[in-house]
Amino acid sequence: MKNEVCWCGTEVYDTYAKFKRNRFKRNKPSFLAHIVECKACHTVRMLDNGEEGDPDYEASYTYESYSPRHAQTLALIDQYAEGDGILDIGANTGLLLHEIQNRIARLTQLKGVDVDQNAISYGVQKYGLDLEAIDAAELQGTYDNIVLAHTLEHIPSLPDFLEVLDRLLKPGGRVFIAVPNIEALGASKRVLPWWPALQPAHHLWYFSGQALTEVFTQLKPAWQVEHVGSFPIWKPKHLPSFLWKNMIGTETKKQAFMQSMKGDQLDFVIRKK
Ligand SMILES: [Zn+2]
Repeated sequence: MKNEVCWCGTEVYDTYAKFKRNRFKRNKPSFLAHIVECKACHTVRMLDNGEEGDPDYEASYTYESYSPRHAQTLALIDQYAEGDGILDIGANTGLLLHEIQNRIARLTQLKGVDVDQNAISYGVQKYGLDLEAIDAAELQGTYDNIVLAHTLEHIPSLPDFLEVLDRLLKPGGRVFIAVPNIEALGASKRVLPWWPALQPAHHLWYFSGQALTEVFTQLKPAWQVEHVGSFPIWKPKHLPSFLWKNMIGTETKKQAFMQSMKGDQLDFVIRKK
């Protein structure tokens, strides 16, 4: 799969990283992943993941494994969400919605959509939530809040998707975004191929805080970014455990680390005007 043009319309790029995936794995096809940085807006994107794709992705995730990374998203929704409705786009099994239901009682109108029919069927049975296997572009109605938890990096056309968001979001409504952070400590170029969020077959975009701000500044200039932060998910592969513990071992240290924007996950809260 190829992703020739940046969301900003520019085709000119610098190579950010180029590496062979699955080189030493006997039972998996290897492929050359080419990651580039847009010369105009500096967003990093997957340019070419070879034709084979990466079979690791489906094999490595289970429906229950996402919970720890939801902590910061839940905290931000709790802090900022107004109204009683929330739509989760890319809801997977609805685990995050289930956590919202348990933790944030004022949000009573919960809806989730995902293109993965299996995940939706599993979630409907397990959590009894209002989940639907459709593309968000086909949804009707408007919502007070929309959450995109590790969704935006999968979306081929960001301009088209932001129009869909605009249509689905009430005036004054908020979007809660979590995406991998290409400026994370564990994503430094030396160790980038081993960073778990580097999924060339599935993750089309690799945002920095600045690049994601640029997406909204250019495409939805009237919307207001209310919160930008980062959140650690994995121990960086190149750091010994004791150093890592020393960096995030207490709540004060963890907060400072998150504010330094070196965490694996970027968290944005954006309000539609
Ligand atoms: Zn660009």
